[in-house]
Amino acid sequence: MAQKSYNINNAHRKQTQQLDVYPRFLFGPGPSNAHPRILQAMGMRQVGHLDPQFLALMDEIQELLRYAWQTDNEFTIPVSGTGSAAMEASLANLLESGDKVLIGVNGYFGNRMTDMAERYGAEVHQLHRPWGTVFSVDEIRQGLEKHRPAILGLVHAETSTGACQPFDEIGDLCRKYDCLLLVDTVTSLGGIPLLLDEWKIDAAYSGSQKCLNCPPGIAPLTFGERAIAKLKKRKSKVANWYLDMTMLMDYWGDNRTYHHTAPINMNYGLREALRIVAEEGLEERWERHQTIGESFWEGLEGIGLECFVEKRYRLSSLTTVKIPEDVDGRAVHKHLLEEYNIEIAGGLGELSGKVWRVGLMGYNSRSSSVALLLGALKSAVALYRR
Ligand code: PLP
Repeated sequence: MAQKSYNINNAHRKQTQQLDVYPRFLFGPGPSNAHPRILQAMGMRQVGHLDPQFLALMDEIQELLRYAWQTDNEFTIPVSGTGSAAMEASLANLLESGDKVLIGVNGYFGNRMTDMAERYGAEVHQLHRPWGTVFSVDEIRQGLEKHRPAILGLVHAETSTGACQPFDEIGDLCRKYDCLLLVDTVTSLGGIPLLLDEWKIDAAYSGSQKCLNCPPGIAPLTFGERAIAKLKKRKSKVANWYLDMTMLMDYWGDNRTYHHTAPINMNYGLREALRIVAEEGLEERWERHQTIGESFWEGLEGIGLECFVEKRYRLSSLTTVKIPEDVDGRAVHKHLLEEYNIEIAGGLGELSGKVWRVGLMGYNSRSSSVALLLGALKSAVALYRR
């Protein structure tokens, strides 16, 4: 039989090298370095997404996530995608066109939440605070009183500013005003104190690549009873097919109905990450992040650098360091990467050029990271003083 011949265009048939990247110390706002045990778990052979072994693993992930978040919420799952996918899933599912939403904006990610909520047709109101500061209970109360929103969205750990929003009384206020409390816990889960049920948080999402040390690509999401009730009362379909939790519930719940193919190896990675959290214990982990964070802040002071956020609201997982006026911030950043293989990040949005962002997350939160960072920063700052 004559072989069919195809007219192949070889213009894009690029010959490339086998992948080999330099190791880096990922001390920026994320991704953090993946824990070796997590990478090893991700290399495990695949099974199908309905294989009994995978179904058992799904249950384990859900249970370990409940521990990490300190919640009994039945609907607690990993979303296929990064933190933004879980943020979008929260908004797409919990709001319907015309719903009033109030979002606290004291950094970059409040604006992202706003953008998403607007795309789903919500009437969005913002509560503003200068970047690097946090909302008081009174400010939240006034916002709820004025706007009477169906959902209040707040960021627990603002990765763009390094500030940590306290939650005392906010959950009670939201119940008083019949409003759901939605919280971004991307940079807090597994790193700093976070008690979802005690704080009466109705819905929360996170990411894998920060304090959990799993590569990006899978993102925890949880809805409590009040959030589920709103979801079940929807008059319209969820406007995002991929992130429609009314369908995904049937996969993660008892029915195990196919929706989309779960990213098997990302789930292996997340499971290992959560096992590591459970092995260490939450209190020990929070304490370690705080101790290491404080030793970094003290060390910064010792080399003449200043933190951007007031100490009582400072995140131990992510520190914003003021760039001295006479120092070329970009050059320091570049020097750290080229000479020390250390990645840190510059400021986002209105903090661009004003701060460096340094993450000491999960596995990276240890004394050797602090020593390395301080030594590198000290020499780079001396080198690039104008
Ligand atoms: N929310 C916060 C507080 C974040 O820090 C990030 C990422 O840095 C996100 C949301 C978005 O997550 P991702 O970049 O994984 O989509």
